[in-house]
Amino acid sequence: MNIHEYQGKQLLREYGVAVSKGRVAFSPKDAVAVAKEIGTLPIVVKAQIHAGGRGKAGGVKIVKDLDEVRAVAAELIGKQLVTHQTGPEGQEVKRLLVEEGIDIEKEFYIGLVVDRATDRVTLMGSAEGGVEIEEVAEKNPEKIFYEVIDPVVGLAPYQARRMAFNMEIPSKLVNKAVGLFLGLYKVFSEKDASIVEINPLVVTKDQRVLALDAKFNFDDNATFRHKDIVELRDFDEEDPKEIEASTFDLSYISLDGNIGCMVNGAGLAMATMDTIHYYGGEPANFLDVGGGAKKEKVAGAFKIILSDPKVKGIFVNIFGGIMKCDVIAEGVIEAAKEVELQVPLVVRLEGTNVERGKALLEQSGINIVSADSMAEGAKKIVELIG
Ligand code: GDP
Ligand code: MG
Repeated sequence: MNIHEYQGKQLLREYGVAVSKGRVAFSPKDAVAVAKEIGTLPIVVKAQIHAGGRGKAGGVKIVKDLDEVRAVAAELIGKQLVTHQTGPEGQEVKRLLVEEGIDIEKEFYIGLVVDRATDRVTLMGSAEGGVEIEEVAEKNPEKIFYEVIDPVVGLAPYQARRMAFNMEIPSKLVNKAVGLFLGLYKVFSEKDASIVEINPLVVTKDQRVLALDAKFNFDDNATFRHKDIVELRDFDEEDPKEIEASTFDLSYISLDGNIGCMVNGAGLAMATMDTIHYYGGEPANFLDVGGGAKKEKVAGAFKIILSDPKVKGIFVNIFGGIMKCDVIAEGVIEAAKEVELQVPLVVRLEGTNVERGKALLEQSGINIVSADSMAEGAKKIVELIG
């Protein structure tokens, strides 16, 4: 789960991490009111969307007076902001962060991630801030420093100090930076984050160390114990089909193609997508209905797939292990009747009660093309949508 920058900065404040003065605004009038509260100029107006790259895309504006705050806020709110992380259609800006303008001396990078290679939370830092860290990692990997954190001890002060020195934080400010890194680690571990990224972390002309940007990602498996974090969820930033899928407890990811896929098991779902690709098709989604799906869940999954206007055909690929093929067949038949299926449907069933499942599909009177293998099914659906 992601949150907005202004929400992340509020969390940082609670953990003693220095951020600039400011708060969220939902309208130009609001934005001017916040700017007045701040009381200094310049002011920075920042579009709040769950994507980075806003600076380059015109989503971060430094303005010199209140009239300009109003004008810039009016321009940004309602705008489809397109950054390299949003996709071509962009994301509508509905909230702004209005902040005091900071006189920056130097930009740095600091972040915490769960590193799968070491199975440890790792502090990552670089003197190359403000730019994409992926780019630094590719071109100058030696400019990124790592501190692997022992989960029992936590981030040790000596590690935070070593990081500050490696990052070439001015020596007078090392203690401030160390305090900030320790605060970051505390919020990361206490809130079960999976990513905290501050890009840029800045040293200001008046010798402060501040988090100028804040990206948080939380582990969905732990949100049950963080009601305060769940409240920060912004449904406007999520795909409506994915929200619907989460209510049915389905793993669903929207994609750009036109073949809807309904599969059980993440591995089989990936293999199905690859096979569709192999035969020249493009999947419209990744969908794992899980192991013990009931009729209702199968029907729910079907409706979500069909609510996507891009979908020109559906491929159901089920391996009945714990799940029985006849139960799946019943779900597919019920859903297909309920939604008055208008697009070709290919079903491949294998496993427990497969004969009964196939018989049910044949007797249903619904126009279902059945396939005996994954390859045959993928080939057929690609041919059927032409
Ligand atoms: P992102 O592009 O979505 O990652 O948004 P950021 O919050 O990182 O802002 C992009 C860039 O805007 C930063 O790297 C800074 O160079 C600049 N910026 C943001 N806030 C300020 C500010 O208060 N003063 C100045 N001078 N620049 C700022
Ligand atoms: Mg940034």
